Amino acid sequence: MLDFGVSTATLTALFSEFEDAVFITDTDRKFIYVNAAGESMFGYSADEIIGRDPMFLYASKEDYETVGSWREKAGEAAASDRLRMRGKRKNGETFTVDGTSGPMRDENGEIAAFVYVLRDVSWRRNLEREKASAHEQLEVALESLSEGFAYFDADDRLILCNQRYKEIYPKSAPAMVQGAHFRDILRYGLEHGEYNTGGLSDEEWLDARLAAHNDPKPHPVEQELDGGRWLLVNERRTKDGGIAGVRTDITAMKQAEARLKQAELRLRILNDSLPCYIAELARDRTYRTINELGASWLGRTRVELIGRKASDFMSENFLKTVLPYYEAACAGEVQRFTARLDYPDGVTRDVDLCYTPDFDKNGEVEAIFVFATDITHLKTVERVLQGLYRITSSRQLDARQKIEAVLKLGSEVFGLQNGLVAAIEGNVHKIAHSVGGSRNFEPGVTRELSTTYCREVVETGRPVTVEFGGDSDYSLHMNYEDLGRESYIGAPLVVDGETYGTLCFCSDGPRTKPFSDADKEILRLFSDWIAHEIGRERDFRQLQEAQAELQRLATTDDLTGVLNRREFIRRADKELARARHLGRPFAVAVLDVDHFKQINDTLGHAAGDYALKDIARALSGELGSNGLLGRIGGEEFCVALPNCTLQEAEEVAERLRKAVMTCQLPESDVCAALSISIGVAKALESDNCIAGAMSRADTALYQAKRQGRNRVVVAHSDNVETLLKPLPAKNINWGE
Ligand code: GH3
Ligand code: MG
Ligand code: MG
Repeated sequence: MLDFGVSTATLTALFSEFEDAVFITDTDRKFIYVNAAGESMFGYSADEIIGRDPMFLYASKEDYETVGSWREKAGEAAASDRLRMRGKRKNGETFTVDGTSGPMRDENGEIAAFVYVLRDVSWRRNLEREKASAHEQLEVALESLSEGFAYFDADDRLILCNQRYKEIYPKSAPAMVQGAHFRDILRYGLEHGEYNTGGLSDEEWLDARLAAHNDPKPHPVEQELDGGRWLLVNERRTKDGGIAGVRTDITAMKQAEARLKQAELRLRILNDSLPCYIAELARDRTYRTINELGASWLGRTRVELIGRKASDFMSENFLKTVLPYYEAACAGEVQRFTARLDYPDGVTRDVDLCYTPDFDKNGEVEAIFVFATDITHLKTVERVLQGLYRITSSRQLDARQKIEAVLKLGSEVFGLQNGLVAAIEGNVHKIAHSVGGSRNFEPGVTRELSTTYCREVVETGRPVTVEFGGDSDYSLHMNYEDLGRESYIGAPLVVDGETYGTLCFCSDGPRTKPFSDADKEILRLFSDWIAHEIGRERDFRQLQEAQAELQRLATTDDLTGVLNRREFIRRADKELARARHLGRPFAVAVLDVDHFKQINDTLGHAAGDYALKDIARALSGELGSNGLLGRIGGEEFCVALPNCTLQEAEEVAERLRKAVMTCQLPESDVCAALSISIGVAKALESDNCIAGAMSRADTALYQAKRQGRNRVVVAHSDNVETLLKPLPAKNINWGE
């Protein structure tokens, strides 16, 4: 039983279940009771507490005395006091205790004991400290963010923002004070030129911005600021209805994005404008990308190709050619090669191919870039040039054969049956050379130029092509109606700067594909070479003609057209040699015009010339092929008579004399008739050349003049008809 008449068992029954610690001290300030919560709060057992002064439970003497002083005034003051003190546990740890104390009285109303109810509140203090420190940490964290952060409450008033937020919006920063309305901050920024509104009015921009801001769903917004800066605004509604926003500066990213887009665009343009097939194939040979030209070679659209296997489109032969290279590229080696391939669009191309492997970050080949350049034209030109060189440098072929060989090569290259060279004069189109066998195109065949496709070539001076004659305007063309030419490619032939005619290739079958500019270029090659060949042939002919003319000039007399003296003697010498070889007779006659001087004197030199020409004409007409006639002096002629005896020669001379007498001078009353005097002599055994015989004939001529002119005198030098004996063979020139 305690002093105040309550048993310990009663107190235990009252306080043992209390969560708070309960201590009771007697009037001498000694513990007389402690409950289980009190024991565990301080770490002492009841035995260690009961009977002791409370000092050992205080961390500070001051607290002990303060609480002690309440005991003194307990009588008159309030029945209880609130207390806060620092407690000290058995393990030395100190902690904060909140509590109340009050006196307990006995049945006489006297204070018998003091009861203390204590609560360990150190956890609450810790919580508050933690809260403060968390707040501090949050601030540090917010400030160290590279993003701008702002928090607005449910009324859209600014609660807090970090420094970065103000830096991001430097022009709006002055408006960012706690409690400022979000809309007002935006408006302030707008007025100070913070934002690039992208063509919207300030109000429109503001409405759009606020609509996004108030959207309850999370909604990142990219925002362009003045000066080309970009922000990513991530706003999120918080549980209490506020809005927390994070702004990230994405200018660098946007710029990089723009650059990438630009680069991609450029690449795309480049890809599509390069005259080259460009594709990227995954290792499994499916198309990842392909440019427009590439798609056109495959006869498909890009959409049809992407994701499909290349082998779905290529022929077996095509794959057989390229696959070994593809496999080698997949093994990591760049492959370059040329090939002639049949592409799915129906065109056979010579191509320069390059397979370049693309590696992933582990160094594994993950794709192959395919670059293909069409070198068909190049290859064809190469082939054509080789062919042309081979033909034109040939020594076995003459000009005509060369032109025909070039035509054959051309009809092979163009795949057209007929090759023609036509000479064109006025409206006459005349086939000069042809290959391909058709009666319509045989050399010599002429047509009216206006009925041919060649007319256009001549008119324009340029290559002309007809691809599908029957399905075009050309179906009404006379050439189509007459000859049914479905395809035609023709070019002008210009020889030495002048249009000679045309070169063309044609066929009665239509083309599988239209002629290209490259075809026209190749045709030009052919026409250049043929024109060159025609020019050469023409030059050669002209040279021959010039040579003949030169020969004629060197051997004939200009005025009369008969042999000149030098040529006459040269040929007569040869005839003499031949006659000697064959043992035949040979004679000469020398002729002189009578009183010729008079003609000149009375009628003038021109009349004299006329007389000479007329006499020469009469002489050669009478002589025919019986001998050689030459003009050996001013108005002197000489006749060589192979196979003629002296007597026969005299007869010939007589006929010549008579022939001249038929010559008449124009408008002449002075000298009505012309006449000649003739001396005849034969070649003797001793004559190696005709000079001797000529000299003897000249003597006879002199006699004829003396005997009265217009007569024939024969030189009977030895009075014997001698047959010439042949000379040894080695001295004979058989040139003519
Ligand atoms: P003939 O012979 O009968 O004794 O008398 P002729 O008058 O013919 O005498 P000659 O032989 O001396 O005269 C020749 C003349 O012929 C001299 C010359 O003026 C002239 N003659 C020579 N060559 C030509 C020529 O090419 N044209 C012209 N018109 N006259 C020429
Ligand atoms: Mg004379
Ligand atoms: Mg004379």
